[in-house]
Formats: sequence, C-alpha cells, structure tokens
Amino acid sequence: MRILLFGVVAVLMVSCKEQSGLKESDTSQNTDQIIVHKEYTGVEPTKPEDTEWYEPVPPTVAPYGQNGVPSDAIVLFDGSNFDEWIMLNDSTEVSWHLNDDGSMTVKDTVGDIRTKRNFGDIQLHIEWRSPADTKGEGQSRANSGVFLQGRYEVQVLDNNNNDTYVNGQVASIYKQHVPLVKASVPSGEWNTYDIVYHAPEFNTNGDKTKSAVITVLHNGVLVQDHVEIKGTTPYEGWPKNPPHGKGPLRLQDHGDNSRVSYRNIWIREL
Ligand code: MG
Repeated sequence: MRILLFGVVAVLMVSCKEQSGLKESDTSQNTDQIIVHKEYTGVEPTKPEDTEWYEPVPPTVAPYGQNGVPSDAIVLFDGSNFDEWIMLNDSTEVSWHLNDDGSMTVKDTVGDIRTKRNFGDIQLHIEWRSPADTKGEGQSRANSGVFLQGRYEVQVLDNNNNDTYVNGQVASIYKQHVPLVKASVPSGEWNTYDIVYHAPEFNTNGDKTKSAVITVLHNGVLVQDHVEIKGTTPYEGWPKNPPHGKGPLRLQDHGDNSRVSYRNIWIREL
C-alpha cells in the first residue's frame, strides 16, 4: 500500500512539473523545486526497477573546460585583469600587483580586495603562493586570507618551519577551527584551496537560524571537514553574527609585507 502511495505521489509530482512547463533543461535553475525526496520506508521493494528513477537529470558540466575550469564556473581571476574585483574599503580599482605570469600579488598596506559580485553557497577554487625568500615569523610570515561572504576567514599563512597558534595557522578557520593536518607545499610553490561553503541563514528578526558550514581541501587533502562557522573571525573577541545576505569573496592584505600571490580563482554557485 505504501509503495502504491509512493508511486501515486511520484506520478503527481511529475504531473505537476509537466503542468508547470518545467523541462529537463530547467533543472539547474529549479533544482530545489523538482528534487524528489525518496523515503526508504514501507514494505521493501523486491524488483530492481522499483528503486530506480530517471529524473531530475543533472546538468552536464565539462570538468576541464576553457583553461581547465569547469564549464559552469564563474572565472574570478585568470591572470589577465582585475575586472571582477575592487578595493574593499572604497570600491575603487584594484591596486594590487598584476603579474606577467598570470598571478596577482598583495600590495602591502593598500588594503583588502573583494569581488564585485556577491555569493551565497559556493564551491571555490583558489591558488596561492608564499614567497620562497621567507621574511617574518609567526603570523607575520606571508599572512593573507580568503574571506567567505567578506566575513569568514580561511587563513593563508606560510607555516613551513614557522609555528603559531594552531587555530590561526594555515588552513584554519581563523580562531575557530584547527586544520586536521598541515598540507602546505614548500614556500615559493603554489598551494590550492578547494572550498565548499554553505552560507548561514537568518530569520526576519536578524537572529541566526542556521550556521555556515565549510569544507576545505588544501592541496587535495581534507583539512576542514564540514565544520560549523560560529560567526565572524576577528583577531580579538568572540565570533559575531550580524545578519547578512549574499557577500563577496575577499582577499586579505595583512599589512606586513606578506607578498602572497593568487591565481586561477573560480567559483561555482551551489
Ligand atoms: Mg590572515
């Protein structure tokens, strides 16, 4: 009986979808409307086809599209210009260094940069490099940072033979989560961060109803495993949770001659 009911519900959902004029090609825009949540309850089916379904069909993505970037990604920096970026403080043109090798480098003390676009849930790929000729100690050695929604920092730091507080080391969620392992390449070589981030949610009173959650792979190694972001990531004080909507990706100028470089930045909205 329950299987029958399930079948009826499934048919009704497909029927509703057809009535609304939704086509397979609409799935990327309307995924949350048409996902059929199967519940594995009732009498267990005995035929294989009772547990096989054919929609929604996921959109096709070329994983190594133009310049090796997934075909549905937004390219935020390919080395040719700063078109997607502005200075954080005054929204003027970016004054960081644009290098000949397809990278950018933090310009000391001019301030952070941010994307012009705002984002919610994302997958992010970003590559960074600390200088081979190391300078400074602790937090003052090639300190930068990748801020999700302009607020929540994944630390960028040269920790090679350079210890600091562990919840502020490379690949930490700054002052909140220690990375599972240290996975940096040698200073002067390119690191990758691959990040899956789900934004926090707030109710109409401005109270947080759901924390942000983040997963980080550092050079392909899992370093943050679906951890809860408690709030903002300040140098001093507790995390704060002022309500917000979508926000930019922000890269940090730590202000102490970090000389950190970035390249190949792309993002997929989830
Ligand atoms: Mg930092």
